[in-house]
Amino acid sequence: MSTTINASLRAQRVIQDLRELATLTSDEHGAQRVAFGPVWRQARDWYRAKIESLGLATERDSAGNVWVTLAGVKEESVLVGSHLDSVPNGGWLDGCLGVVVGLEALRHYVESGQKPPSTLRVVDWADEEGARFGRSLFGSSASGGSLQRSDVEHLQDRQGVRLVDALKENGLDLDGVLQAHDYLKKIPAKAYLELHIEQGPVLESMNKSTGVVLGTFGVERHKIFFSGQAAHSGSTPIPMRRDAFLAAAQTALEIREIGKRHSKPGANVVCTVGVVKVEPCIVTAVPGECEISLDQRALDADILAQMYAEAQQASHKAAQDNNVTVRWEKLWTIEPRPFDPTLLRLCEESVREVTGDAPRLPSGPLHDAAEMVPWMPTVMMFAYSANGLSHCKEEDTPGEHLEKTIRAFLTLVDKTVQHLGA
Ligand SMILES: [Zn+2]
Repeated sequence: MSTTINASLRAQRVIQDLRELATLTSDEHGAQRVAFGPVWRQARDWYRAKIESLGLATERDSAGNVWVTLAGVKEESVLVGSHLDSVPNGGWLDGCLGVVVGLEALRHYVESGQKPPSTLRVVDWADEEGARFGRSLFGSSASGGSLQRSDVEHLQDRQGVRLVDALKENGLDLDGVLQAHDYLKKIPAKAYLELHIEQGPVLESMNKSTGVVLGTFGVERHKIFFSGQAAHSGSTPIPMRRDAFLAAAQTALEIREIGKRHSKPGANVVCTVGVVKVEPCIVTAVPGECEISLDQRALDADILAQMYAEAQQASHKAAQDNNVTVRWEKLWTIEPRPFDPTLLRLCEESVREVTGDAPRLPSGPLHDAAEMVPWMPTVMMFAYSANGLSHCKEEDTPGEHLEKTIRAFLTLVDKTVQHLGA
């Protein structure tokens, strides 16, 4: 009984800290902790003061990620990470929940006066959102070693400020950023844990507080160009047309069917056509050119490959049916990043102990955790997201769900620290 009260008080402390941070870094439109700006620095100053009040110190790697280390009996380290930065007009939980819960994990061990069996490190990744310069997972991909100079050296914000200058303003330089993997390599990291708000409607639809995240989706993102012949809408009989839009529309409908076909209970996939551009875009002309986008995501690499192949076949059939040609252009792809089976088991146990159930779901959005998967066993936990909303001021996890989720995550941290220390 006493441990339950204790756990509940710990969760309340996390919620109180989150409220405090929200008050400090939000306005009437929501959170304003955009990376590399003054409010973000204020959030980090607040966090540093909290850490220092525990008698611990923060350390910044060369990509601007902020690390805190609490030495354990063993050097083998459990990493807890997420990001304090937000999108403009963002929510009060996206990102900072996962850092502030790490603060509580540290606080608990410090207050107990006992060294944890293994070392605990909390990391606040720099610029997860990419809200200002368009490159998300900036700090974690630098740390993971996947960030390329060519991805970022040309980037500017809407005001024309160059990323390299924003870095300089924050005491960072691109050469250093690209060497941040050296810092990670020196850490004997054996586990990475991340708590995040779901940002989607799945847990809410099941009325579950907390979810075990199976991994982050792989993504196939492409442009598809259809090319026919523009013609007069009054004089050109339908069988004689080469209508590029109709080929695109037929493809888009088939892409929806591909998504439905490969979705199974507990293993949903998604397919989206989010862009359509038509030429000449005149009410009295048959469209001669049409460009659409394709975004397909799945947790299983074979299924993703199958979905991609089927979308290509569908586009070729639609092109043939409409007497037009089709051409594909790759925008971006990433392979699925499934999480570690042992940590998944610990995560499931933790969620079940606190909430009585342990629903599993994949993550559609990418997270910093994806960058850690190649280097160490990784797992994530999700909190219920009211109305599935995120990246807006309405973002919320109702109190009861939030408290349970925080308790489940702190349980996972304890279990992992014990597991590595054993
Ligand atoms: Zn986030």
